[in-house]
Amino acid sequence: MIDRDRLVATFVELAKIDSPSGEEEEVARHLVAALEELGLSVARDAYGNVIGTNGEGEGEFVLLSAHMDTVEPGRGIEPIVEGDRIRTNGTTILGGDCKAGVAAILEAIQSIKEDDVPHLPYQVAFTREEEIGVVGARNLDFSMIDAEWAVVFDGEGPPSQITSSSPTYIGFDFEITGRAAHAGVEPEKGLSAIRMAAELITRLPQGRLDDETTFNIGTIEGGTVRNAVAENAKVSGEFRSRNLEALDAIEVQLEDALRQVRELYPEARIDAHIHTEFETYTLTEDDPATVHVMGVLRGLGLEPTLRPSGGGTDGNVFRGHGISSVVVGMADHGMHTVREYVTIPDLVDAAHLCEELLRRE
Ligand SMILES: [Zn+2]
Repeated sequence: MIDRDRLVATFVELAKIDSPSGEEEEVARHLVAALEELGLSVARDAYGNVIGTNGEGEGEFVLLSAHMDTVEPGRGIEPIVEGDRIRTNGTTILGGDCKAGVAAILEAIQSIKEDDVPHLPYQVAFTREEEIGVVGARNLDFSMIDAEWAVVFDGEGPPSQITSSSPTYIGFDFEITGRAAHAGVEPEKGLSAIRMAAELITRLPQGRLDDETTFNIGTIEGGTVRNAVAENAKVSGEFRSRNLEALDAIEVQLEDALRQVRELYPEARIDAHIHTEFETYTLTEDDPATVHVMGVLRGLGLEPTLRPSGGGTDGNVFRGHGISSVVVGMADHGMHTVREYVTIPDLVDAAHLCEELLRRE
């Protein structure tokens, strides 16, 4: 049986282990031990993702997934349990994203094991570096994954909240090289990389472009000192959309801007690197994982709601590898802020959902 107190204790223990993106080793080792204790055979792939397998039982292999890393400020987290909520002391995030998902999965497996419930064969993937562009999932060794469908516990809100669609995410980096010169003595000999960066940026869109499309310049750096014409500048940004035509239009605009600025400054060097981080999806009514998850939710008396997301998850990557994946809520609210909190009744529901998904009828 799902044990509320044990589930909360598991979550609190996990939240206290620092695991900002790139520093997941301690929590990974903790999770390997926990899964082994639960009787799974556990392996790490070359990238350090944790993959547990319980191949017993008959039926289709299902994959349960959550990520191990958190955003900052995420060090020295002190979770506070207060009534039906778990919150922070206001100086850090809670890390409910995604440790609420991890805790729900562990509790479901524990419950199934204790009650000796007949279950589907299943795998668990706890990934690294989700928060910095689903890097762990993109490096996941899919030859180790047998599952045909997956449930990713990485959404906001209650587990009945299903992420119905997610955009394609494209990142870009410009590296601009001009020519340095003394700003006061011979500025005419210089070629300002910062000026060129500005010319580029003003030819690009910014913010929300339509219902499904956003564009952002995230960082700009360049120059060395106040009194020198800047030789180098770097600009990074990203754009996302669920509409592939909108993405194409932005790429055309990007290329146009680059061409124009290169024509304005033929002596400069402007390198551009445009890279797709993950691809869009939209759930359909007949999608196998969607049908399954919605049926199980209704069986638990939870009415599924479908909501589009502007972000991506490991689910985008799994789908790209032909694994039908559904992203569900994991009881977390106020993600990526110091106001983040987990609602315990929803967390219990997430564990119930996970348990029912594994149960063999
Ligand atoms: Zn997350």
